Order: sequence, then structure tokens, then C-alpha cells
Amino acid sequence: MQKLLEFFLQDPCAFRTQYYLITKIFAQKFPLRSAKIETMINIYDLDLPSLTELLKGWNEPAYRAKQVWQGLYVHLYNSPERFTNLSKPLREKMMENFTFMPFSVKTFQDSSDKHTRKTLFELPDRNLIEAVLMRYGDPADTHDGPDARTTKPRRTLCISTQAGCAMGCVFCATGQLGFKRHLSSGEIVAQVMYYAQMLKKQEETVSNIVFMGMGEPFHNYENTMAAIDRLNDSEGYNFGARRFTISTVGLVPQIRRFADEQRQVNLAISLHAIDDDARVAMMPVNKRYKIDEVLEACEYYVAKTSRRVTFEWALINGVNDTPEVAKKLASKLRGLMCHVNAIPLNPTAGFDGQATDRQRAILFKESLEQAGIPCTIRMRRGIDINAGCGQLAGAASK
Ligand code: SAH
Ligand code: SF4
Repeated sequence: MQKLLEFFLQDPCAFRTQYYLITKIFAQKFPLRSAKIETMINIYDLDLPSLTELLKGWNEPAYRAKQVWQGLYVHLYNSPERFTNLSKPLREKMMENFTFMPFSVKTFQDSSDKHTRKTLFELPDRNLIEAVLMRYGDPADTHDGPDARTTKPRRTLCISTQAGCAMGCVFCATGQLGFKRHLSSGEIVAQVMYYAQMLKKQEETVSNIVFMGMGEPFHNYENTMAAIDRLNDSEGYNFGARRFTISTVGLVPQIRRFADEQRQVNLAISLHAIDDDARVAMMPVNKRYKIDEVLEACEYYVAKTSRRVTFEWALINGVNDTPEVAKKLASKLRGLMCHVNAIPLNPTAGFDGQATDRQRAILFKESLEQAGIPCTIRMRRGIDINAGCGQLAGAASK
């Protein structure tokens, strides 16, 4: 008992996961009619060993778990009836115990150009999260070409890791909502499966996944990594590590941990300012981790992984978009293997700042590039559907 307690205290996330599974199993053994939905296991919360263990408890042979796994992640079945290779009693048991949709669709919106779809999901505890599908490189797309490697159009998913966010960045609609809770790994995976199943009907597949929806992925480190591992499994969904991008506000210990794990996943840091005072005013986290500490952690990451870092820069008119700021930024980043993604601010109700116009954005990019730092200006996708981080949930909860 003592050992068990110590283990849980060392690793609160393991505690959460175990607690979660234990309460589910307990609730299954002693079901309450009204609590039925609460007792269902989100099937995407299970990794292959847990699924194997669970099916073993149902007296199923060991190979059964692989069949279920492949049904879920290779064939993208979205309900037990689809598993026609399994016996009827097993499908019925799956129906009683598993949910394949751990949230409901509250609303969805398509942008007027139809390139972007944003879905607002409602979790059983009424919390709201968002996931956005962005289509790039279709013949009608006048802004972005197809994937340079595969020459196919890209289908990028932007998904959430938390309901709300604790980091409080003043320009961000999610930050303005405050923190609600961490998402489980299965709630993160389920957002991907929802869109993957939808795209499959159009004979399309997801090409990139970015953790740039609601929440701070490094604040929910274990569950985010568990979701990546589940989606990356070569016997399942087999989504290549290099096609994921994690965006972080700059939590230094987690950047270093991520570097030590040497994952092939892309890393983006939301920088937005190059003076500590200016950054503190926009991003309270900078009181805890100063810009130099964040940049040192990035150097560590590049040294460990030989991968370049992306810095995100929301261009705010007259605030962080002048050639002087660009020069200072370039001098700070010199020598670091990196790239800057500048994106005009998506205006939000709770913040006065305005987006930089195209001309100023180009000047900013040119100043950076003259100083040797590569920079891309990103389009604001789906601006007409509040597709900025947290904006749809913000609007729905008003
Ligand atoms: N919490 C993580 C990932 C989610 S936010 C992070 O902050 O990096 C994804 C990106 O959207 C971040 O770069 C964030 O700074 C940016 N962002 C948030 N609100 C924005 C807004 N109103 N306009 C432009 N970018 C915004
Ligand atoms: Fe959280 Fe990222 Fe929004 Fe900041 S920008 S409040 S870290 S979601």
C-alpha cells in the first residue's frame, strides 16, 4: 500500500489514469441506470495492452485485442456493429461498455470558402472543446499549394488538449475562458478519429495534426504524449511522428523533457514578444519562465534532436510588428536552427489589439530575413467562423 501511494504521489498523472479506470470498472460492476453514460469507457482511452487486458477479463483470446485495434485505427470503424469479424455477443458487450464518441457535436461551422470546418464538441460534463479541419492545396485554393512531398492536397487538423487554458494569454479567446480541465488521452484521440472517419467517406485522409486548439499541451504532458503514441502506433493508425506539431506557450521543464525523449514530433514555441516586460503583459507565464530561459531550452532541444524550432508570432498592429522589433528578434534568434511563423492577430472580444495589415506583415518578414532568420507569413484561416483558438467555445458560452 505504502509503495502504491508513493508511486501515485510521484506521478499524479498515473494516479489520475488509474483512478479513472478503477472508478469505471467499479461503476461497471455496480451499474446505476442513470449513470450509464458516465460508466462507458471511451474506447480511445485504451492503449493496446489495456485493451488486451480488458478483453482477457472477458475471456477473449489474446489476438482479439489486435482485431479490435485494427478495426478502430486501420478501418476507422465508429461503432461495434461495424466489427463484423467479431462474434455478436462480443459486439453487444462492446456496445454496453464502450463509447466511440465521448462527446457530442454541439455545433459546426464551415468557412465561406469551404476550406475550413470548425466543430464544437460538448463533453459529458458540459465542457466545450474545439477541433478544426483545414483543407490546403485543393485546385480552388489560391493561397496554398499541395504538400511538397506527396503533391497531394493537405488536410490539417487543429485539436484541443484541455477544456479552457490556465495560461491566461490576454490575446487568446481560450485564455480568456480560463482553465476547465485536462482532456484524457482518449478525448484527444477521439477528435482525430471524428475527422478521420468523416474524411474517409470522401476517400481522404488526415495529413497533419497540430496541437493548437484549446489548451496548453505541455500542461497536460502525459495525456498529450499518450495520444500521440496511440495515433503513431504502426499496427494501428500509424500516423507519422513528423506529421504532428506541438505548440507550447514555453513551459521550460517540459521543453527539456520533450528534448530528452527525442521524439520526431515538430515543436513550435509561441513567442510573440522579445522583451520580458512586453511578453509578461501579453503572456503571464513569462513571469515564471523568462525569454532567455525559453531560448536556452530551445537550444537544448535543437542540440538533442537536430530538429529546428518554429517560433509563432501573432502580429499585433503597432505592438510587436515594427522593423525594430524584428531586428531585435533576429539578433536574439541568431545561431539557433529556427523559423518564424508570423500570423496576423485574430481579434478577440476580450483584447483591444488589432491585426497587422498585409503590407506591414511583409515588412516585418523582410526585416527578419535580411537579418538571416527565415520567416513565413501564415494566412488566418476561417476568420469568418471564429476559427481562432477558443473563439467558438467563447462565443457559445456567452
Ligand atoms: N497553448 C498552446 C497551443 C494552443 S494556442 C500555445 O499557446 O502555443 C495555438 C497558437 O495560437 C499559439 O501560437 C497562440 O499564441 C496562438 N493564438 C492564440 N490566440 C490568438 C489570436 N487571437 N490570434 C493569433 N494567434 C493566436
Ligand atoms: Fe493557453 Fe495557448 Fe491560449 Fe496562451 S495562447 S491562453 S497558452 S491556449
